[in-house]
Amino acid sequence: MKVLFSIFCFVSLINYSFSQSKWTGNRTPTYSELIDHLKSVSKNHSEVELYALGSSDYGLPIYVCIVNGSQDSLRTFEKARNETTILINNAIHPGEPDGINACLIWLDKWIANGKKVDNLPVIAFIPAYNVGGMINRSSTSRANQNGPDEYGFRGNARNLDLNRDFIKMDSENAFTFCNIFRALEPDVFVDNHVSNGADYQYTLTYISQMKERMAPSLRNLVYGTMLPEMTKNLRSKKWGLFPYVELKGETPDEGIYAFNDLPRYAMGYAGLFNSISFTVETHMLKPFPERVQATLAFMEELIDWTKNNANRIEQSRKNANNWVQDQSWFRFNYELSEERDSINFKGYEHSFPVNEITGLKRLLYDRTKPYQKMIPYFNKYIPTDSVRIPDYYIVGCQEKEVIRRLEMNHIKFRKIQKDSLIDVQSFVVTSFKSSDRPYEGHFKHKEMNYELINFKYKLKAGDIIIPTKQNSAMFIHSVLQPKAEDSYFSWNFFDSYLQEKEYFSNYVFIDKIQEILDSDAKLKEEYIRKKSEDESFRNSEWQQLYFIYSKSNYFEPSFMRLPVYQLISSKIKN
Ligand SMILES: [Zn+2]
Repeated sequence: MKVLFSIFCFVSLINYSFSQSKWTGNRTPTYSELIDHLKSVSKNHSEVELYALGSSDYGLPIYVCIVNGSQDSLRTFEKARNETTILINNAIHPGEPDGINACLIWLDKWIANGKKVDNLPVIAFIPAYNVGGMINRSSTSRANQNGPDEYGFRGNARNLDLNRDFIKMDSENAFTFCNIFRALEPDVFVDNHVSNGADYQYTLTYISQMKERMAPSLRNLVYGTMLPEMTKNLRSKKWGLFPYVELKGETPDEGIYAFNDLPRYAMGYAGLFNSISFTVETHMLKPFPERVQATLAFMEELIDWTKNNANRIEQSRKNANNWVQDQSWFRFNYELSEERDSINFKGYEHSFPVNEITGLKRLLYDRTKPYQKMIPYFNKYIPTDSVRIPDYYIVGCQEKEVIRRLEMNHIKFRKIQKDSLIDVQSFVVTSFKSSDRPYEGHFKHKEMNYELINFKYKLKAGDIIIPTKQNSAMFIHSVLQPKAEDSYFSWNFFDSYLQEKEYFSNYVFIDKIQEILDSDAKLKEEYIRKKSEDESFRNSEWQQLYFIYSKSNYFEPSFMRLPVYQLISSKIKN
């Protein structure tokens, strides 16, 4: 027995030191090394579970690794939903793999320290989200980054930036993420990255949710307690934690601003479901092993804080879910205010010497001249749009891609059983602009405007009706309100409604206009006025006929009318 015990100790000691050295150097594992390693860890330790929860565009699966689940494939997800859970996403940008190594080191340490679970939250991490990007390895695609020796590429197998894909869901990866996210319903979410941009002293920076978009209970918890306490604790461990350095101008002297975490981003998406979310951004110019330790320090501090404040987190999320359902207005399209605060910043002096090759001035940070000073901090956003929240939305059953996305996001709705007529408000688009170059596979729309028309809608069997009083209401408004910055309309889901399908021949239609004008006195008056005021109109047969056509019964009602409707009244039969 004694012999057996010492052999066991010997084996675990060897395991620990081996694993320690394996992930702390300047190397990050390949996809297959990573998954093979986690398979073997989960095989040897039943407390560590590994699940393939869906595919990626590359074809290989996306895994989630769960520590402190219930060690039962079905009950683990139930446990995660019911108890406090942290979800960490790695390698959405595989050129920024710090989180992969940090999670592996954390796992090794947890095992070596005896797999303690007292008050530990459920810890879930996606080891490799962008599988295709991870397989596309090189040592050159991050031109400004200090290690590791090899790493993956930002674009996925279809060259999509997955950190813009959480609403439009063009990738299979996004569907798998949705599956993982909704199965776990994490209380806290972290997306691990490496920075671009300025040089400064910090290794560890973070993005937290735009405070104006958050429910008050979560805003108070995160900005009032969580971030100040985590910053203090990390500082005591020699890790200065600082907001992500998003520059207002060319250098930090002109100030930095808070990031607008739109729903298209991982953390913005998670925030719509009242998950407390962060993006960790380690500094690209610090060596990889140091960045990994910084990511690990954030992770450990986050786990500790969550462990010690689980009840407050749960209560604040509950209050946030109630708050979301109580709202009568949805505010969106936030713009950065010019109002400035200031923040104590540890940077480096800079100068603009002339570069010999270009013959032009270049920016040069001087690491031998560190400074600490107050710089401007723009951290206030103002909503530029708001709408009164309807009781229900209706989406036409023909919009299968939209309905599929709502279903994947666990949005509660019911299907209409039989055809009937119903009074709704209909969005009729009056103007919009489209980008002239593709952005993430889309000619995305912006500056959308519409008129809200009272309309008798012919509800079809299969159409879906979505109550807005549900915990995911912020997600629902963000995708269905046409003017919202990441709406399905903006992401081109409804483009087919923006084009007329029928036209007329002038020589035929001209014989009808007398009858049309005679039957509509108001139209006749408008026509006569326009003809007298507008010279180009007066001289164009087409313009005159189209004017009458577009206001007559011959005009197609589907043109510019979105297949999304809203119901203000809560009285719904059917
Ligand atoms: Zn990134």
